[in-house]
Amino acid sequence: MDDRWPFFTVDLELTNVCYQGCIFCPRERLTRPQGFMPRELFAKIATQLAENGSRVTFCGMGNPLLHPELETFGQLCMELNLNFGLTIQAPALNQAGLEKIAALKPGFIEVSLPTISPGLYAELFPGQALETALNNLDNLVVQRGGTRGITVNAVVTALETENSEKMHEFWLNRGINFRLHACHSRGGNLVDNNLITASAREIKQCGLFATHSFITWNGQLLACCHDLTGETFIADLTRSTIREAAQAKLRFLEAPMPFKICKSCDEPAADRPIPLRPFPESGKARSRYLKSLCQTKNTIK
Ligand code: SF4
Repeated sequence: MDDRWPFFTVDLELTNVCYQGCIFCPRERLTRPQGFMPRELFAKIATQLAENGSRVTFCGMGNPLLHPELETFGQLCMELNLNFGLTIQAPALNQAGLEKIAALKPGFIEVSLPTISPGLYAELFPGQALETALNNLDNLVVQRGGTRGITVNAVVTALETENSEKMHEFWLNRGINFRLHACHSRGGNLVDNNLITASAREIKQCGLFATHSFITWNGQLLACCHDLTGETFIADLTRSTIREAAQAKLRFLEAPMPFKICKSCDEPAADRPIPLRPFPESGKARSRYLKSLCQTKNTIK
Protein backbone atom coordinates (compact mmCIF):
# COMPACT_ATOMS: atom_id res chain seq x y z
CA MET A 1 0.00 0.00 0.00
CA ASP A 2 1.67 3.25 -1.02
CA ASP A 3 1.68 6.30 1.20
CA ARG A 4 -1.01 8.14 -0.77
CA TRP A 5 -3.75 5.72 0.27
CA PRO A 6 -4.14 7.01 3.87
CA PHE A 7 -5.09 10.40 2.36
CA PHE A 8 -7.31 9.03 -0.43
CA THR A 9 -10.20 10.94 1.16
CA VAL A 10 -9.81 13.54 3.89
CA ASP A 11 -12.16 15.20 6.33
CA LEU A 12 -10.79 18.66 7.02
CA GLU A 13 -12.33 20.30 10.05
CA LEU A 14 -12.34 24.03 9.26
CA THR A 15 -13.93 24.55 12.66
CA ASN A 16 -15.44 22.51 15.46
CA VAL A 17 -17.76 25.36 16.45
CA CYS A 18 -21.47 24.72 15.87
CA TYR A 19 -24.70 26.12 17.29
CA GLN A 20 -27.26 23.76 15.76
CA GLY A 21 -28.03 21.40 18.67
CA CYS A 22 -28.90 18.28 16.62
CA ILE A 23 -29.94 15.59 19.06
CA PHE A 24 -27.78 12.89 17.44
CA CYS A 25 -24.60 14.94 17.92
CA PRO A 26 -22.55 14.15 21.06
CA ARG A 27 -20.71 17.47 21.07
CA GLU A 28 -21.15 17.84 24.83
CA ARG A 29 -18.32 15.29 25.00
CA LEU A 30 -15.99 17.37 22.86
CA THR A 31 -12.94 18.22 24.98
CA ARG A 32 -10.59 19.10 22.13
CA PRO A 33 -9.94 22.87 22.00
CA GLN A 34 -12.44 24.76 19.84
CA GLY A 35 -11.54 27.22 17.11
CA PHE A 36 -11.13 27.98 13.41
CA MET A 37 -8.37 26.76 11.09
CA PRO A 38 -5.85 29.57 10.44
CA ARG A 39 -5.37 30.59 6.81
CA GLU A 40 -1.63 29.70 6.67
CA LEU A 41 -2.28 26.23 8.06
CA PHE A 42 -5.13 25.70 5.61
CA ALA A 43 -2.89 26.72 2.68
CA LYS A 44 -0.08 24.42 3.83
CA ILE A 45 -2.36 21.39 4.19
CA ALA A 46 -4.51 22.04 1.11
CA THR A 47 -1.42 22.40 -1.11
CA GLN A 48 -0.11 18.99 -0.05
CA LEU A 49 -3.53 17.33 -0.38
CA ALA A 50 -3.90 18.70 -3.90
CA GLU A 51 -0.49 17.24 -4.82
CA ASN A 52 -1.62 13.91 -3.35
CA GLY A 53 -4.85 13.83 -5.40
CA SER A 54 -7.02 13.67 -2.26
CA ARG A 55 -10.75 14.25 -2.21
CA VAL A 56 -11.32 16.72 0.63
CA THR A 57 -14.53 17.29 2.56
CA PHE A 58 -14.90 20.25 4.90
CA CYS A 59 -16.61 18.67 7.90
CA GLY A 60 -15.87 17.46 11.42
CA MET A 61 -17.46 18.47 14.69
CA GLY A 62 -18.53 21.94 13.55
CA ASN A 63 -20.40 23.83 10.88
CA PRO A 64 -17.81 24.68 8.16
CA LEU A 65 -20.00 27.54 6.90
CA LEU A 66 -19.17 29.46 10.09
CA HIS A 67 -15.53 29.87 9.05
CA PRO A 68 -14.92 33.61 8.44
CA GLU A 69 -12.42 32.95 5.60
CA LEU A 70 -14.49 30.43 3.71
CA GLU A 71 -14.49 32.34 0.43
CA THR A 72 -10.71 32.78 0.49
CA PHE A 73 -10.30 29.07 1.18
CA GLY A 74 -12.55 28.27 -1.78
CA GLN A 75 -10.46 30.46 -4.09
CA LEU A 76 -7.27 28.78 -2.95
CA CYS A 77 -8.78 25.34 -3.56
CA MET A 78 -9.71 26.40 -7.11
CA GLU A 79 -6.16 27.64 -7.75
CA LEU A 80 -4.78 24.35 -6.44
CA ASN A 81 -7.31 22.36 -8.48
CA LEU A 82 -8.23 20.54 -5.26
CA ASN A 83 -11.24 18.21 -5.38
CA PHE A 84 -13.23 19.60 -2.45
CA GLY A 85 -16.72 19.79 -1.04
CA LEU A 86 -18.48 20.02 2.27
CA THR A 87 -20.87 18.25 4.59
CA ILE A 88 -23.54 20.20 6.42
CA GLN A 89 -26.57 19.45 8.50
CA ALA A 90 -29.83 20.39 6.74
CA PRO A 91 -30.64 23.34 9.07
CA ALA A 92 -27.39 25.06 7.97
CA LEU A 93 -28.84 25.36 4.48
CA ASN A 94 -30.64 28.63 5.25
CA GLN A 95 -30.34 31.87 3.26
CA ALA A 96 -27.02 32.81 4.86
CA GLY A 97 -25.72 29.28 4.29
CA LEU A 98 -26.76 29.32 0.64
CA GLU A 99 -24.91 32.60 0.08
CA LYS A 100 -21.76 31.18 1.63
CA ILE A 101 -21.99 28.07 -0.53
CA ALA A 102 -22.41 30.24 -3.63
CA ALA A 103 -19.19 32.07 -2.72
CA LEU A 104 -17.29 28.87 -1.81
CA LYS A 105 -18.21 26.98 -5.03
CA PRO A 106 -17.65 23.45 -3.68
CA GLY A 107 -17.52 20.56 -6.16
CA PHE A 108 -19.89 18.51 -4.03
CA ILE A 109 -22.23 19.05 -1.09
CA GLU A 110 -23.41 16.34 1.26
CA VAL A 111 -26.51 17.37 3.19
CA SER A 112 -27.32 15.40 6.30
CA LEU A 113 -31.10 15.11 6.25
CA PRO A 114 -32.00 12.05 8.32
CA THR A 115 -35.72 11.63 7.72
CA ILE A 116 -38.64 12.55 5.49
CA SER A 117 -41.03 12.44 8.44
CA PRO A 118 -41.87 16.05 9.51
CA GLY A 119 -42.44 15.01 13.14
CA LEU A 120 -39.17 13.13 13.48
CA TYR A 121 -37.27 15.87 11.63
CA ALA A 122 -38.43 18.41 14.24
CA GLU A 123 -37.40 16.00 16.99
CA LEU A 124 -33.90 15.45 15.56
CA PHE A 125 -33.37 19.14 14.78
CA PRO A 126 -35.26 20.97 17.55
CA GLY A 127 -37.01 24.13 16.33
CA GLN A 128 -36.61 23.18 12.65
CA ALA A 129 -39.17 22.19 10.01
CA LEU A 130 -38.75 19.63 7.23
CA GLU A 131 -40.68 21.81 4.80
CA THR A 132 -38.16 24.63 5.23
CA ALA A 133 -35.28 22.22 4.68
CA LEU A 134 -36.84 20.91 1.46
CA ASN A 135 -37.43 24.47 0.18
CA ASN A 136 -33.83 25.35 0.98
CA LEU A 137 -32.63 22.24 -0.82
CA ASP A 138 -34.68 23.28 -3.87
CA ASN A 139 -33.00 26.69 -3.70
CA LEU A 140 -29.60 25.01 -3.60
CA VAL A 141 -30.48 23.04 -6.73
CA VAL A 142 -31.54 26.25 -8.50
CA GLN A 143 -28.39 28.04 -7.35
CA ARG A 144 -26.15 25.27 -8.73
CA GLY A 145 -28.15 24.86 -11.90
CA GLY A 146 -29.07 21.25 -11.14
CA THR A 147 -28.66 18.39 -8.70
CA ARG A 148 -25.16 17.40 -9.83
CA GLY A 149 -22.78 17.10 -6.87
CA ILE A 150 -25.57 17.16 -4.28
CA THR A 151 -26.09 14.12 -2.06
CA VAL A 152 -28.56 13.70 0.78
CA ASN A 153 -27.23 11.50 3.56
CA ALA A 154 -29.84 10.03 5.88
CA VAL A 155 -28.54 8.73 9.17
CA VAL A 156 -31.26 6.27 10.09
CA THR A 157 -32.05 6.37 13.78
CA ALA A 158 -34.03 3.80 15.75
CA LEU A 159 -36.84 6.40 15.89
CA GLU A 160 -37.38 6.18 12.12
CA THR A 161 -40.87 5.14 11.03
CA GLU A 162 -40.51 5.33 7.23
CA ASN A 163 -39.13 2.34 5.35
CA SER A 164 -36.02 2.70 3.26
CA GLU A 165 -37.81 2.03 -0.09
CA LYS A 166 -40.09 5.00 0.51
CA MET A 167 -37.12 7.20 1.33
CA HIS A 168 -35.25 6.10 -1.81
CA GLU A 169 -38.35 6.81 -3.91
CA PHE A 170 -38.81 10.22 -2.30
CA TRP A 171 -35.30 11.37 -3.24
CA LEU A 172 -35.33 9.62 -6.60
CA ASN A 173 -38.44 11.64 -7.53
CA ARG A 174 -36.52 14.80 -6.67
CA GLY A 175 -33.56 13.65 -8.77
CA ILE A 176 -31.21 13.82 -5.79
CA ASN A 177 -28.49 11.29 -5.06
CA PHE A 178 -29.33 9.63 -1.75
CA ARG A 179 -27.55 7.38 0.75
CA LEU A 180 -28.79 5.76 3.92
CA HIS A 181 -26.43 5.18 6.83
CA ALA A 182 -26.97 3.38 10.10
CA CYS A 183 -26.82 5.74 13.09
CA HIS A 184 -23.73 4.84 15.10
CA SER A 185 -22.41 6.09 18.41
CA ARG A 186 -19.51 8.20 17.04
CA GLY A 187 -16.85 6.31 18.91
CA GLY A 188 -19.08 5.54 21.90
CA ASN A 189 -19.78 9.24 22.44
CA LEU A 190 -23.46 9.13 21.52
CA VAL A 191 -25.07 7.11 24.29
CA ASP A 192 -28.79 7.40 23.49
CA ASN A 193 -29.83 3.86 22.53
CA ASN A 194 -33.10 5.23 21.16
CA LEU A 195 -31.07 6.53 18.24
CA ILE A 196 -28.37 3.97 17.46
CA THR A 197 -29.00 1.34 14.79
CA ALA A 198 -25.41 0.21 14.02
CA SER A 199 -23.78 -2.79 15.72
CA ALA A 200 -20.53 -2.63 17.69
CA ARG A 201 -17.60 -5.02 17.16
CA GLU A 202 -13.85 -4.98 17.73
CA ILE A 203 -11.97 -3.71 14.69
CA LYS A 204 -8.41 -5.03 14.31
CA GLN A 205 -7.63 -3.45 10.93
CA CYS A 206 -9.76 -0.45 10.06
CA GLY A 207 -10.44 0.12 6.35
CA LEU A 208 -11.62 3.64 7.07
CA PHE A 209 -8.35 4.48 8.84
CA ALA A 210 -6.40 2.95 5.92
CA THR A 211 -8.05 5.06 3.21
CA HIS A 212 -9.28 8.15 4.98
CA SER A 213 -7.83 10.84 7.23
CA PHE A 214 -9.27 13.28 9.68
CA ILE A 215 -7.49 16.57 10.31
CA THR A 216 -8.68 18.87 13.08
CA TRP A 217 -8.94 22.64 12.72
CA ASN A 218 -5.61 23.03 14.55
CA GLY A 219 -3.76 20.62 12.28
CA GLN A 220 -3.85 17.46 14.38
CA LEU A 221 -4.11 14.23 12.42
CA LEU A 222 -6.26 11.89 14.51
CA ALA A 223 -6.91 8.23 13.80
CA CYS A 224 -10.64 8.76 13.74
CA CYS A 225 -13.15 11.55 13.12
CA HIS A 226 -15.10 10.18 16.10
CA ASP A 227 -12.30 11.09 18.49
CA LEU A 228 -13.65 14.02 20.51
CA THR A 229 -10.76 14.19 22.97
CA GLY A 230 -7.63 13.88 20.81
CA GLU A 231 -6.65 10.53 22.33
CA THR A 232 -5.95 8.94 18.92
CA PHE A 233 -3.26 11.44 17.92
CA ILE A 234 -1.13 10.36 14.94
CA ALA A 235 0.76 13.46 13.77
CA ASP A 236 0.93 17.23 14.12
CA LEU A 237 0.58 18.70 10.62
CA THR A 238 1.79 22.09 11.79
CA ARG A 239 5.22 20.38 11.99
CA SER A 240 5.00 17.23 9.84
CA THR A 241 4.31 16.83 6.15
CA ILE A 242 1.39 14.80 4.81
CA ARG A 243 3.89 12.23 3.52
CA GLU A 244 5.47 11.82 6.98
CA ALA A 245 2.00 11.54 8.53
CA ALA A 246 1.04 8.89 5.96
CA GLN A 247 4.11 6.84 6.91
CA ALA A 248 3.01 7.03 10.56
CA LYS A 249 -0.46 5.77 9.59
CA LEU A 250 0.97 2.89 7.58
CA ARG A 251 3.04 1.81 10.60
CA PHE A 252 -0.15 1.62 12.69
CA LEU A 253 -1.62 -0.74 10.09
CA GLU A 254 1.12 -3.31 10.74
CA ALA A 255 -0.52 -4.25 14.07
CA PRO A 256 -4.07 -4.38 15.49
CA MET A 257 -5.60 -0.93 16.07
CA PRO A 258 -4.26 0.15 19.50
CA PHE A 259 -6.97 2.69 20.35
CA LYS A 260 -9.64 2.17 22.98
CA ILE A 261 -12.45 3.43 20.72
CA CYS A 262 -11.67 0.69 18.16
CA LYS A 263 -12.45 -2.07 20.69
CA SER A 264 -16.18 -1.51 20.37
CA CYS A 265 -16.49 0.38 17.10
CA ASP A 266 -19.91 0.64 15.46
CA GLU A 267 -18.82 2.69 12.43
CA PRO A 268 -19.99 0.63 9.41
CA ALA A 269 -17.25 2.07 7.16
CA ALA A 270 -14.54 0.51 9.35
CA ASP A 271 -15.28 -2.77 7.49
CA ARG A 272 -14.04 -1.32 4.20
CA PRO A 273 -11.36 -3.51 2.66
CA ILE A 274 -7.73 -2.45 3.04
CA PRO A 275 -6.76 -1.59 -0.57
CA LEU A 276 -4.47 -4.14 -2.18
CA ARG A 277 -4.17 -2.29 -5.46
CA PRO A 278 -2.03 0.69 -6.46
CA PHE A 279 -3.37 4.17 -5.71
CA PRO A 280 -5.62 5.15 -8.66
CA GLU A 281 -3.67 7.68 -10.70
CA SER A 282 -6.44 9.55 -12.47
CA GLY A 283 -9.25 11.51 -10.86
CA LYS A 284 -11.76 9.36 -12.75
CA ALA A 285 -10.27 6.11 -11.44
CA ARG A 286 -10.28 7.51 -7.89
CA SER A 287 -13.92 8.51 -8.28
CA ARG A 288 -14.82 4.99 -9.52
CA TYR A 289 -13.05 3.40 -6.57
CA LEU A 290 -14.83 5.75 -4.15
CA LYS A 291 -18.21 4.89 -5.66
CA SER A 292 -17.48 1.19 -5.24
CA LEU A 293 -16.77 1.81 -1.53
CA CYS A 294 -20.01 3.75 -1.08
CA GLN A 295 -22.01 0.98 -2.70
CA THR A 296 -20.67 -1.76 -0.46
CA LYS A 297 -19.84 -1.60 3.18
CA ASN A 298 -20.68 1.81 4.56
CA THR A 299 -24.28 2.34 3.51
CA ILE A 300 -27.63 0.70 3.85
CA LYS A 301 -29.18 0.01 0.48
S1 SF4 B 1 -11.97 1.15 14.06
FE1 SF4 B 1 -13.73 2.51 14.35
S2 SF4 B 1 -13.11 3.84 16.05
FE2 SF4 B 1 -11.22 2.87 15.24
S3 SF4 B 1 -10.39 4.29 13.71
FE3 SF4 B 1 -11.73 2.85 12.62
S4 SF4 B 1 -13.75 3.85 12.55
FE4 SF4 B 1 -12.54 4.89 14.12
